[in-house]
Amino acid sequence: MHSIAPPTFDDVTDAARRLQGVAHRTPVLRSSTADAQLGAQLFFKCENLQRMGAFKFRGAYNALSRLSDAQRERGVLAFSSGNHAQAVALSARLLDMPALIVMPEDAPAAKIAATSEYGAQVVTFNRFTDDREAISRRLAEERGMTLVPPFDHPHVIAGQGTVALELLQEVPDLDYLFVCLGGGGLLSGCLLAAQALAPQCQVIGVEPAAGNDVQQSLRAGHIVRIDTPRTIADGAQSQAPGEITFPIIQRHVADIVTATDEQLVAALRFYAERMKIVVEPTGALALAGAQHGGIDLHGQRVGIVISGGNVDMDRLSRFLAA
Ligand SMILES: *Cc1c(COP(=O)(O)O)cnc(C)c1O
Repeated sequence: MHSIAPPTFDDVTDAARRLQGVAHRTPVLRSSTADAQLGAQLFFKCENLQRMGAFKFRGAYNALSRLSDAQRERGVLAFSSGNHAQAVALSARLLDMPALIVMPEDAPAAKIAATSEYGAQVVTFNRFTDDREAISRRLAEERGMTLVPPFDHPHVIAGQGTVALELLQEVPDLDYLFVCLGGGGLLSGCLLAAQALAPQCQVIGVEPAAGNDVQQSLRAGHIVRIDTPRTIADGAQSQAPGEITFPIIQRHVADIVTATDEQLVAALRFYAERMKIVVEPTGALALAGAQHGGIDLHGQRVGIVISGGNVDMDRLSRFLAA
């Protein structure tokens, strides 16, 4: 992995060509209520309305589309219980290659079912007794499958960068762009696009307050690893930024702010009540960071990436009832 060249803006534009007509060009929504609250103009890029419900489809499809014929024939493998699993499963079906997804046996039944419905084979493991990375590596080796990582891969990063590419094509003169942050695939891809298309735009990463591994890493000047954070933002429970994502973030990000679970719930409520859209907790990080991150946005034009919308309705209603 370390010998692979880091992605560039050219890789992002190449990904955009590969995704054309395959991924949705998601809408950019406005909200006068949100504008009034912040005294700013907000532009919401709605990846909750992307295929399979999250931006992860972009990176997975781009990575799979770049495999050789021999690799395609043997197929791909991913370990994930979340959006990356479904993104790889759907992309593999579209590109007509076998996919094997390694998931914890106690993953929500709906997620296991959704992944199998996309035609992937699901292998489960016991989170408490098995080493999922070892299992995945063994399976990949046995079957000659290509392992697709969720964020630390140049083609995955380039695919995610098309989110900011599209937003900046539509709204070129943004002053700020807020992007949620787990392992940093989405943020580093968006940084490549913003750097090339809107160098004046300050890109801000938003992490859960319970797990600010990237903020700590930036301050330390090297990758800092933390315990798996306890937060409702299940797509951002990363322990450390990636070896490829971190240097890109370090070089280009303007700042990293955090949001608490309480602030995420308020943002989820705002999305449902005011904007009539379903957003998953991780997908609400960017808005919560813009609202509470301590950055003065008065009079500014601000992009907000809504990263995904995959949340069970009973889970969402529990958050909103609390
Ligand atoms: C994976 C994911 C993230 C975090 O993305 P990274 O590339 O790991 O930083 C954020 N939101 C949603 C909905 C996700 O699925």
